[in-house]
Amino acid sequence: MTATHADSDLVAMGPFDHEPRTRLVFGPDTVDRVGELARTLSARRVLLVTDRGIVSAGHAERARRSLETAGLSVVLFDQVIENPTTRCVENCREVAQAGGIDTLVGLGGGSSLDTAKGCNFLLTNGGRMQDYWGVGKASKAMLPLIAIPTTAGTGSECQSFALITEEATHQKMACGDPKAAARIAILDPTLTVSQPPRVTACTGIDAIAHAVETAVTRKRSPLSQLYSQAAFKLCVAGLPRVLTNPQDLEARSRMLLGAAWAGTAIENSMLGAAHSAANPLTAHYGIVHGEAVGLMLPWVVRFNAEAPAVRQTFAELACAAGLAQRDDRPDAAVQVLVATLDSLLSLAGMPRALCERGVDRSALPQLAREAAAQWTAGFNPRPITAPDFERLYHAAFSKGPV
Ligand SMILES: [Zn+2]
Repeated sequence: MTATHADSDLVAMGPFDHEPRTRLVFGPDTVDRVGELARTLSARRVLLVTDRGIVSAGHAERARRSLETAGLSVVLFDQVIENPTTRCVENCREVAQAGGIDTLVGLGGGSSLDTAKGCNFLLTNGGRMQDYWGVGKASKAMLPLIAIPTTAGTGSECQSFALITEEATHQKMACGDPKAAARIAILDPTLTVSQPPRVTACTGIDAIAHAVETAVTRKRSPLSQLYSQAAFKLCVAGLPRVLTNPQDLEARSRMLLGAAWAGTAIENSMLGAAHSAANPLTAHYGIVHGEAVGLMLPWVVRFNAEAPAVRQTFAELACAAGLAQRDDRPDAAVQVLVATLDSLLSLAGMPRALCERGVDRSALPQLAREAAAQWTAGFNPRPITAPDFERLYHAAFSKGPV
């Protein structure tokens, strides 16, 4: 008899310990409730962490108005940069310290949310960002944080990790502590409508990569799989719509919620080899995170799907999103999954070959060693070594069928 993925119990029955830490407030115009919500956390002086683009779009002013109407004072830090560095976080801490703040609001893409989290570590626990690289290194209580994403991508609003880049080495440090998670996340799709199309594309692909990678990691659990599958379904339906009609608020809502669910999945199951392979590309060639992940994702899915158990789990993911039927053969379902990723990447205008982004073929062995040393590689469902990464980089080097 031919084995189909309907024959086995596909949900990982690994143990989990999930404490929801973040209150989710979802809906159009919910950003206008930030003042009222901050008051529930006993806020008096709020640090608003954001970037210049968000100020120009008028979102920072909207948040400030709500906070001030609720009787709170606001200290502004609007110098967040993409892929925030240790120096960016230090600068934010100085402003927070001088302002005597008691609550943080991160408003923007993942960079603003991560800078706010990083600042919270330094402000409450002292030292340098490097001291918190890893998990659970903050011994003292941290200040309440409200996260308000303006992109649908990282899912940082649902995570206890801040990704901060070491200024000198370009090493991305994942600094996590349960206390760093936002107390409240405000998911307001109206804020995501103003994103430049390229940001919509890059962050949308990143959210999809999060759903796909979390679905199969070694650390996945029955709970993380719920979130991965729900996120994937929302984003597969939403991304083509926001790319063709940026004003489509219902599709924007799907992407924002999908990115948040995928972020929750990461919090519970970590990520895999597409992210491990992407980070050295960003560090050495400045390739935007979503592009770097998109370049590697189809190849990593193919690589992981060579393991029968992973193939079945991918088939289940394809079923959950309505891309395949339960009685399809797993290899056929994976084929559809990869074809779908392929067409979404093309629709999003993502680069499809490393050579298009200035990567030199002679650099691939070094990139592969760095990829294998990434933390996320350890959660990939198939063991993966530097020679494996080198093969994946070669596959992704020039444009060709996945
Ligand atoms: Zn990512």
